[in-house]
Amino acid sequence: MRYLLLLATAFTMMTACNNQKSAQSSQDLNLGDLDTTIVPGNDFYQYATGGWQKANPIPDDYSRYGSFDKLREENQKQIQGLIEELGKTTHEKGTNAQKVGDLYKIAMDSVKLNADGVAPLKSYLETVASVADKKDVVRCMASIGKYAGNPFFGFYVGADDKNSSMNIAHLTQGGLGLGDRDYYLAQDDHSKMIREEYAKLITKQFENAGFSGEDVAKAAKSILEIETELAKAHVTKEIRRIPELNYHKIAIADLNAQVAAFDWDTYFGELGAKMDSLDVSQIAPIAKAAELIADKPLEELKAYLNWNLINSAAGYLSDDFVNANFDFYGKVLSGSKQLRPRWKRSVDAVGGSLGEVVGQLYVEKYFPAEAKERMLHLVENLQISLRERILQLEWMSKETKEKATEKLATFYVKVGYPDKWRDYSTLEIKDDSYLQNMFRASEFEYNDMLNDLGKPVDRDKWYMNPQTVNAYYNPTTNEICFPAGILQPPFFYMHGDDAINYGGIGVVIGHEMTHGFDDQGRKYDKYGNMTDWWAAEDAPKFEERANVLVDHFNGIVVLDTVHANGQFTLGENIADYGGLQVSYNAFLKTEEGQSTDEKLDGFTPAQRFFLSYATLWACNVRDAEILRLTKMDPHSLGRWRVNGTLPHIDAWYEAFNVQSGDVLYLPKEKRAVIW
Ligand SMILES: [Zn+2]
Repeated sequence: MRYLLLLATAFTMMTACNNQKSAQSSQDLNLGDLDTTIVPGNDFYQYATGGWQKANPIPDDYSRYGSFDKLREENQKQIQGLIEELGKTTHEKGTNAQKVGDLYKIAMDSVKLNADGVAPLKSYLETVASVADKKDVVRCMASIGKYAGNPFFGFYVGADDKNSSMNIAHLTQGGLGLGDRDYYLAQDDHSKMIREEYAKLITKQFENAGFSGEDVAKAAKSILEIETELAKAHVTKEIRRIPELNYHKIAIADLNAQVAAFDWDTYFGELGAKMDSLDVSQIAPIAKAAELIADKPLEELKAYLNWNLINSAAGYLSDDFVNANFDFYGKVLSGSKQLRPRWKRSVDAVGGSLGEVVGQLYVEKYFPAEAKERMLHLVENLQISLRERILQLEWMSKETKEKATEKLATFYVKVGYPDKWRDYSTLEIKDDSYLQNMFRASEFEYNDMLNDLGKPVDRDKWYMNPQTVNAYYNPTTNEICFPAGILQPPFFYMHGDDAINYGGIGVVIGHEMTHGFDDQGRKYDKYGNMTDWWAAEDAPKFEERANVLVDHFNGIVVLDTVHANGQFTLGENIADYGGLQVSYNAFLKTEEGQSTDEKLDGFTPAQRFFLSYATLWACNVRDAEILRLTKMDPHSLGRWRVNGTLPHIDAWYEAFNVQSGDVLYLPKEKRAVIW
């Protein structure tokens, strides 16, 4: 994984300020979002967001719909406007405007897409058809890996975890069409059903691609066998979260002896990667892939390679491919009822492939300069607050505190958009087909990444686009990043009161900062190097405290008899917990934070802070998506980011007078005390 700790779900945002606390009502807390028939201490999530849930049923093309998705949808409309504006006029070939306009046009051209059918994929499938021996298999898997997923295993270039200023190559486990090993191995009815439907998907797509008869049935069987074998060797997602168990720097000359006998020369040759050593993140699954390539008959391996191509291409081909893909990944796996409209899929494809071109247009039109300034100011206040909290910790030694505060002081902070924009001049967008453009865009990304191999890490590179509604912490550069897209309501209100903004974007900033000190992030020092900088007696104390959250979340039932996964979500839960503590502490220093009795909208400042936090996670989720997210997403579900975390925050008890006997009440000795 290239960017550890990045949040897949939501977060962040901005600013501070404000002094309009004397008003009696505000526009940033919508009382209709609440359900005041609920006792806050019994179900705070329902109390704070019950009205929102009722007013915002899940649209058919969503599997989960929350206030974060709502913001994302508004952003999408703005971006669509920018893109369509470009599409109205003809632009000189090779300009960014031509690329954005033409890619969107070809993505939207359903007549051409359906007339072309599988034709745009033909030349790629022919390459697989021409595979004549095992050397060709290796060459072909490397080549496909540049633009269409990771057959067998993955390759990427990124910082060396133990020498973080340099980029090296990494090999990672991969090659599973279902993403997680559990789907192949679990014996519950839901997982069995998913495997059966996945086999049907493979069959359907092979038929769409022009295969027929016995070949199709054989292909589906071989593919499931290969993926199941790989899945058995895959490291679990819980183990993936332990950085030191996923780093093995090995000389290229020793790969045969230390990983597996494999045609490494052909593989790296095809990738165009030259180096003396690399990191093999997980050894067993890569050894297993090498073994499968050596042992399986050529026809089975070719079926698997074809599947990687077809499955990666499906979203950019005719409607029969797109619909089959949606029927499985959208309906079966996530519970969506309807395919997203073509314009949304196209906006996302253009925004993903030409991210910083779209980003530049977006910030020029929608990101006010003062937002950046306020955001930087807020980050500074949060940094001061986290420093104070670290220095006050009873369980941590002076020695570790010193290093922790040093790390905090060296956070590299990114807000809004990058100072220098990416160069897309080598990416060609033309009128051959949507698929070929998308594959070229992926290969462009690959080449850009390969270009970093063996070179120093560029700290100014962004790992998210400016228009993205999200935020991240990256441990190897010790950076926190808040793109322009998230610096809007409900995360940030330019004229909102402090309670609302500290409970919103403030918590998000604190969340990202805390990632630098969660169960993974704490293993990287201020330079971004994976090294143990903790005093020996402090690490077990941290783990003991973190385990309080592991146990607490393990006890939560998310659906029927299915429990949350406390170990898998630990980093995110620590970050939510720390974000709340740090932002609340910072809020207490503001004028509003010190006026305990002045109410706005009928709520005290402290109450508004926690209501604002809960509002970020207001959402409705389909049952299938609850099950999928519980398997795949390291973040807790919205409901539990609120009801799972707040019971560990003392200030929340005071704000809402939560008493023993209330459902969410935890006695003090059962509450986590970490940051
Ligand atoms: Zn996070």
